[in-house]
Amino acid sequence: MVKPYQHEPFTDFSNLENQKAYEEGLKTVDAYLGKDYDLVIGGERVSTEDKLVSVNPANHSQVVGRVSKATREHAEQAMTVALDAFESWRTTDPVSRADILFRASAIIRRRKHEFSALLTREAGKPWNEADADTAEAIDFLEYYARQMIRLKDGMPVESRPGESNRFGYIPLGVGIVISPWNFAFAIMAGTTVAALVSGNTVLLKPASTTAVVAAKFVEVMEEAGLPKGVLNYVPGSGSEIGDYLVDHPKTRFVSFTGSRDVGVRIYERAAKVHPGQKWLKRVIAEMGGKDTIVVDNEGDVELAAQSIVASAFGFSGQKCSACSRAVVVEDVYDQVLERVIELTKDLTVGNTEDREKFMGPVIDQAAYDKIMSYVEIGKTEGKLVAGGVGDDSTGWFVQPTVFADMEPDARLMQEEIFGPVVAFSKAKDYDHALEIANNTEYGLTGAVITNNREKIDQAKRDFQVGNLYFNRGCTGAIVGYQPFGGFNMSGTDSKAGGPDYLLLHMQARTTSEML
Ligand code: NAP
Repeated sequence: MVKPYQHEPFTDFSNLENQKAYEEGLKTVDAYLGKDYDLVIGGERVSTEDKLVSVNPANHSQVVGRVSKATREHAEQAMTVALDAFESWRTTDPVSRADILFRASAIIRRRKHEFSALLTREAGKPWNEADADTAEAIDFLEYYARQMIRLKDGMPVESRPGESNRFGYIPLGVGIVISPWNFAFAIMAGTTVAALVSGNTVLLKPASTTAVVAAKFVEVMEEAGLPKGVLNYVPGSGSEIGDYLVDHPKTRFVSFTGSRDVGVRIYERAAKVHPGQKWLKRVIAEMGGKDTIVVDNEGDVELAAQSIVASAFGFSGQKCSACSRAVVVEDVYDQVLERVIELTKDLTVGNTEDREKFMGPVIDQAAYDKIMSYVEIGKTEGKLVAGGVGDDSTGWFVQPTVFADMEPDARLMQEEIFGPVVAFSKAKDYDHALEIANNTEYGLTGAVITNNREKIDQAKRDFQVGNLYFNRGCTGAIVGYQPFGGFNMSGTDSKAGGPDYLLLHMQARTTSEML
């Protein structure tokens, strides 16, 4: 019997033992900084001349690792191997597949602080954010393993006398998993193992900026007993091999998490049927967000300010669920804004190898430049009341930034910035606040701060987001507790960490036998 699922607890870093364990993790990672990582195709290591160089965003002269870069030829080899491996993997007992995930989870749990420390080095994550990312990776392994055991015998259907009907789920084929850098471990691992445990074989193309943690994860899956060829590691530039993998006639599905524009591109390209292709490809797409916290005049001002600051600036605002808009009813607007400015000015920014730093860098030069250009746009659209300053001399640091008095249709209120920038807009009343909250093309997360029960019910009806929270921030969904995914241009609303997620990686089959 598998014991019931419970999410992995977060580490208490006020405890000295835990602090030491994390510091040990940093030492372990520092001992392998700058190493080379190969492609993995059919269990074989393949080294290429051309490398992706992963650097520490808090100190861009520090190389975290040099990762071989897959070409189209490598992608083709990986596809051939994955098609071959699918023939045995698809009929492997689902419980044995689930057991591999349980073993991988145990390995990661033993090396938890090493993985988190790697996220500090490779993605600039503060300790608590890195710890949550690793915990979420463990959660995905534990949760999807149990979900597969639940689904392995299908669902009951009726049979008339003299016949035996069955309704079950079978895997799809070779899936392309394309993952982002912001949950470099959790989302990369979660999307990969969902596809694997469902019986598919995978070509994993991680984000180029965080390809080392993905290489380490592939090693863990091998150690846990995953057969050769079932998971193939093909890092490379998205624009160079991405289209090739998506267009390939043997690709059965694409599981993508990333920006709106790349998601739309993949969705369009996957719709085209190529010569030799026998199916319509499936696309699971988790895309961007422009997430709002609505503050009502019947809400707790302190809770509102704390929630906005934590959701806007946790991991430098680089979460798809980050609060980048605060829509506040006019009676409490000044109070909430003032308190947010105070809290923001107290935040510490720097290299997050230091446990005390609340916020680290942003991921790379392109992100830094983009965020700073939005700061300039913001100055023309509203009032800069905190932050607005950046420094990219050693790492890509941007101070937490608050803009006040934005029109609801301002660019800062509409476009995903993906950095530590939050814009405030004033609403006449609660109805108006919800109207503003719904006025973007996205629909990922949102939160409402109010103590009025009717207003909570109204938001449940009318606030169009996939994850809606009350009297808390809008980030921090937990696997198996708050399944995660958004509406509209935030993606296909495939709920990661939810009870129907694995079904997206399978097809249902009915058999009917006369007795
Ligand atoms: P991104 O630039 O769209 O990249 C995501 C992945 O797509 C990377 O592996 C990237 O590879 C790859 N890629 C780029 N161009 C491609 C192409 N033409 N074909 C195929 N793949 C291609 O996004 P990101 O900057 O890594 O992540 C941030 C975005 O992800 C934000 O918009 C955020 O909101 C979104 N996100 C959404 C969720 C959710 O659950 N809804 C969760 C996390 C993040 P390279 O790295 O090589 O370019």
